[in-house]
Order: sequence, then C-alpha cells, then structure tokens
Amino acid sequence: MKISLKSISRLVIGYMLVAFGWWALHQWNEGHRLFETEKALLETRYESAGTNQTQQQKAEAYKKIERRWQKQQRMVLSEGIFLTLCLAFGLWMINRAANREVMLAKQRRNFLLSITHELKSPIAALQLTLETISKRELKRETLEKLCSNGLRDAVRLQQLVEDLLLAARLEDNWRPLPEPLDLETIVRDCARSLQTRFPKANIRINVPPNFLPVQADKPGLTAVVQNLLENAIKYSPDGETVEFTAEKTNGKLRLTVADHGIGIPNDQKNAVFEKFYRIGNEEVRKTTGTGLGLYIVKQVVSAHGGTITVADNHPKGTVFTVEI
Ligand code: ADP
Repeated sequence: MKISLKSISRLVIGYMLVAFGWWALHQWNEGHRLFETEKALLETRYESAGTNQTQQQKAEAYKKIERRWQKQQRMVLSEGIFLTLCLAFGLWMINRAANREVMLAKQRRNFLLSITHELKSPIAALQLTLETISKRELKRETLEKLCSNGLRDAVRLQQLVEDLLLAARLEDNWRPLPEPLDLETIVRDCARSLQTRFPKANIRINVPPNFLPVQADKPGLTAVVQNLLENAIKYSPDGETVEFTAEKTNGKLRLTVADHGIGIPNDQKNAVFEKFYRIGNEEVRKTTGTGLGLYIVKQVVSAHGGTITVADNHPKGTVFTVEI
C-alpha cells in the first residue's frame, strides 16, 4: 500500500492536535483535583480547630485557594490558546510546504511527459516524411507539401530546443547582452515562423513607422515575442485575430500581445509565470506545450529591469503587457 506525503502530514497534524488537547485536559484536571483536595483539607482543619477560628478567617482562606485555582485556569487557557495558535501556524506552514512540494513534483512529471511528447511527435513526423520522399516517385506538388510539413516540424523542434537552452541558462544567472535591435524585423520573423506552424493564424502587427532601435538582448527579446505570440495563437480559436502592438511612452518600450481566446482565470494569473505551470483544464491539455514559455518571458523581462502583466481582454481573451 502506497501512503502519500499528504496523508502522512495529515496524520502527524492529527496526532499533534490530539496529543496537545490531551495535555491541556490533563493540566486542567490536575489543577482541579488540587483545588478540591485543598478545599477538603481546609474544611477538616476548621472543623478540628473548633471555635478558635472565626468564619471570616475560614472564608479568607477559602478565597485564597479559589483565587489560586482561578489563576491556574487562566494560565492553562491562555497558554493553551497561545500554543494552539503557534501549533496551527507551524502546521499550516508545514502543510503548505508539503503541498507545494507535491505540486512541484507533479508539474515536473507533467513537464517530462509533455517534453517527451513534444520531441517525439515532430521527430516521428519528420522520419515519416523523409521515408515517403526517399521511397516513392512523387509529383512536384506532393513533394512541396511534404517538404513544407517537414520544415514546420523542424522549426518546432528548433524552437523547443532554443526554449530549453534558454531556460537552462536562465537558471545559471543569465545576463542580457543589450544591442540596438530593429523590433519590427524581429516580430515579422517570429510571425513568419509561427505562420508556418499555424497556417490559420491571423497575426496583426502594429509597430509605428520609423520606430527607433530597441536596446535589448537579441535571443532574449526574440524569445519574449515568440512565446507571447505563440500562446496567443495556441489558446485562441483558429483564425482569431492576435494583435501585437509596440509603443514608446516616457522613454519606456511597451509591447502588448492581445488575443480573443480562452482567457486566464484570475486565480491563475500569477501562477502561469511559474516554471512548468500549465492550467489544468481540458482546452489547455489538448494543446501542446511544456509550461516553460511564460517562465522564460518573465525571467528575460526581469533581467532587462522590466515588468510583465496579464489582464483580461474584452469581450474575451487575454492581454500581456511588457514594459522595459
Ligand atoms: P505552455 O507551453 O503550456 O504554453 P506557457 O508557460 O507559455 O506554457 O504558459 C503557461 C500556461 O498559461 C499555459 O499552459 C496556458 O494554460 C496559460 N496561457 C498562457 N498564455 C495564454 C493565453 N494567451 N491565453 C490563455 N491561456 C494562456
């Protein structure tokens, strides 16, 4: 029988709460027993002392032991409340850390599964294409189609490997190497390669004429544009418009990528930037991906001293805004 980390942490939490409750009850009972014994002793003492002791002295002595018992009650109660709060806080932290570990392990497992799938499918498709080309006499038209499919798979593989390499370098204290870049050329190159992979994609590019060169790291900026555009296409219905806009305001570069797709629920808007994170709904699971794209985008933007935000588009969809 396999016992999960979650059940073990719940068992430990349960045991600690019961043990603590038992200790508090024990303290209370002991205090009460002592109070009753002292009370009985007092009665006996006054009875044997006869009329030498006044009723007033007896009442005072009784009040004294009663006060001691009340003080002890307050102490057990306040210590109990304080320790329960400390215990609850500590247990909550442990539980949270355990849950996080479980989630990370799950995400890593999902990542391995999806990366294997992402690598295997284009390799298998390429193999089949090359076998078909080498074994048969084909019409020029068919040959062209097969070549363009093969090229699409090769582009996908190349992008995947570039993402993996960049993610590995980001782990290793990556620093951008800024140089003057022509933003429009970068965006049009990304759009072209995406159009090969997603022939129905409808990408609109709004870069103002004579846009001044942008100071940024070339592979980094390319990865940002590529990943944001790719997501906008992937998580939208076929043929839906995806809009890329660039502007300069107050000396800052602002890039927005807006789509009219499935959108991102509010409670997951932060999580999507975590490594390997993918939203667990059916629409996302049907789409290929590794959960690395937005992690790379966020790290690259932060390394440039910039910010990235995500908001809902209207009437539906998502808008990502990068400011550098
Ligand atoms: P993936 O390889 O899964 O696309 P990303 O890191 O690029 O990984 O994105 C993380 C998750 O964020 C995606 O799996 C998807 O659930 C969600 N997401 C990202 N971009 C969009 C978008 N434009 N619209 C809706 N969901 C998105």
